[in-house]
Parts: sequence; C-alpha cells; structure tokens
Amino acid sequence: MFNAIVVSKPDEQSTVLKSVDKSMLSDGDVVINIAYSTLNYKDALAVCHKPGVVRAWPMIPGIDLAGIVAESSNDKFKVGDAILLNGYGIGEVHTGGFAQQARVKSEWLVPLPNNISLKQSMAIGTAGYTAMLCILALEKQGVTPSSGAILVTGAAGGVGSIAISILNKLGYSVIAVSGRVEQTDYLKTLGAREVLPRSGFEGRNKPLLKERFAGIVDVAGSHILANAIAQTQYGGVVTACGLAAGMDLPASMAPFILRGVKLIGIDSVMAPMQDRLQAWQRLTQDLDLTVLDSLTHTISLSQVPVFSEQLLKGQVRGRTVVDVNV
Ligand code: NDP
Repeated sequence: MFNAIVVSKPDEQSTVLKSVDKSMLSDGDVVINIAYSTLNYKDALAVCHKPGVVRAWPMIPGIDLAGIVAESSNDKFKVGDAILLNGYGIGEVHTGGFAQQARVKSEWLVPLPNNISLKQSMAIGTAGYTAMLCILALEKQGVTPSSGAILVTGAAGGVGSIAISILNKLGYSVIAVSGRVEQTDYLKTLGAREVLPRSGFEGRNKPLLKERFAGIVDVAGSHILANAIAQTQYGGVVTACGLAAGMDLPASMAPFILRGVKLIGIDSVMAPMQDRLQAWQRLTQDLDLTVLDSLTHTISLSQVPVFSEQLLKGQVRGRTVVDVNV
C-alpha cells in the first residue's frame, strides 16, 4: 500500500489523500518509487476539478515525477536508475506523480541528468522544461542577446520565473510583466531589467504598437499575448505556451504581414524525446541552481489541495516541489 492523491469523477468533486495499492496504477513496463513531484498550473486545475485536464477517473494527478526505478521489464532501464518524467498524459489519462509509486511506459523516461538532484529536477518540472523549450524556439528562429529585449509574461509564476533566470544567465535583457507589483524585487533578483504592470497589457489595443521586443515568452494568451505581439519588433519571435489569461487570441494580422513577426506554439506534453533531452541538457547548463533553489519551496502531499487553490488565484510564487514521502 502507498499514499496517493485521488481525484474522483467530476460529479463527485472529491480530492482525497488516501492509501491505495498497485491496482490503482495505469499500465506500463516500469514501476517507479517516486521521490518528488511538483505543482504546475495544470495540476492545480486537476486537483480543483476544473475541466479539461483529467480525462479518466478516478485519477492520481501530477504531470511530473522523479524517482528511482523499482521494477522494470525493459532493458533500457534497470532497478535503481534515477529518472524523471514530464507529461505524456500522466496526471491526465494515466495515473501520475502525486503518489509514492507510479507505473509508466519506459519510453517516457528521461535519465536524471548528472549534475542535478531528484528534487532539483522537480523544482524545474514541466514549468522549467517548458521555459527552456520556449528559449530553444527563440534561438532556433535566430534570436540572440544582441537582437533586443525579451518580454516574459506571468513573470512571478513557474514558467516565468525560470525563463527570466535562464535568459538572464544567457545574457539577454529581460523585461517582465507581472500582475503583482510587490514581486518587483524578486523578479529583479532573478534577472529582470524592468518589471511592467500586467494592466498595461490588458484590454483591446491598437494592432501595431511601438516596436519594443525581439522575443516573447508568453504564458498568458488572450489580450496579453495580442498586445505583446503588437509590440514585437520587425522579424521578432513570439513563443506562446500558456493560457493564464484565456484561451482566446484577439490579435490582428498586422504584426505578421507588416513586421514579419513569427508566432511559435510550444507544447511540452507530447514533445518528442529528442527535444526533451536537448531541453534537459540545456537546463543543467544554463539554469543557475542556486537561483533555482531560491525560487523553490517544498510541500507535502497533504498540502497539495490548499496550494492548488492558491496557485489558481495567482498567489503562489516561483516553483513548488511536492515531497511525496513526508
Ligand atoms: P503559475 O500559476 O506558476 O504561473 C502563472 C502566472 O501567470 C501567475 O503567477 C501570474 O503571474 C500570471 N497570471 C495569473 N493569472 C493571470 C491572468 N488572469 N492574466 C494574466 N496573467 C496571469 O503557472 P505556470 O507558470 O506553471 O504555467 C503558466 C501557464 O503556462 C499556464 O497556463 C499553463 O497551463 C501553461 N503551461 C503550458 C505548457 C505547455 O506545454 N504548453 C507547459 C507548462 C505550462 P504574475 O502574478 O507575475 O502576473
């Protein structure tokens, strides 16, 4: 028996921490003794019964996990190997990381990179790995520190905090957008040169505004993304990964056809293994682990429901690791 958070069918609206056995776990060829998981925006939606994330019930949420292989019927992974796993539908359609054990498919596993701990891998989690996918996409489109400033929205959240920290280490001039002015000092410590209020990006605006940014890392969508696109300089690159402000995109064609702006969608869940390995390799190289530790706090499985509610209200800063064994 082991502990797990279990989300019931939508009509029951119950999320409980309970003792379960392996019959609760989805199929796979490896069993993992989980050490840590992490709380992402998507996990908070699942725990709080918001529609669109969990699509099979009952479900153990948690889109990330890190731990040690306990059983394996695949040659590539043996008992005792340290691994991490992001996405691929765990915590959505396949039982996930908010438990002390998981049974998953070996082809989803990433070997734990050499110079980070299991806990640090979850401090990074899907949020940090997605931030890196955004930065890799900017680079692929030719953006460099000499291209101009990079705008990061939802700056005090998980993706935003890690994106700022990496971009700063890579030598970019970073401008943060945040709805929390009280987090200005925190964001500047991470490496933001300037912090702009979110209110300046809300509401409908002109299709073209003054060119200010060579690249964008956007977690917000909706009007915030539209107004960021309108301020992207000629040939600039916008990476869109989130919908904290909304799923819509009330934008104009003008920046695309008059300024050659490129809009790149970022998906972490089904990203090919080659891209994941590249992102994790770059994370170990380009993310300052001291900064990572400073923006991370740790909670227990029993605290997940309360922190999920706070995260959806935009009250959680940085990254939240879940220690599943306390
Ligand atoms: P967090 O909750 O940690 O951060 C989101 C941040 O967005 C908040 O901290 C807040 O920052 C800002 N925010 C909150 N509400 C609003 C709002 N109404 N309008 C504009 N900004 C808002 O979440 P994550 O960083 O983990 O994820 C951010 C987004 O990225 C989510 O939508 C998530 O689903 C998505 N995502 C997508 C992935 C993909 O594969 N495409 C992978 C990972 C995440 P501040 O207070 O500084 O304004």
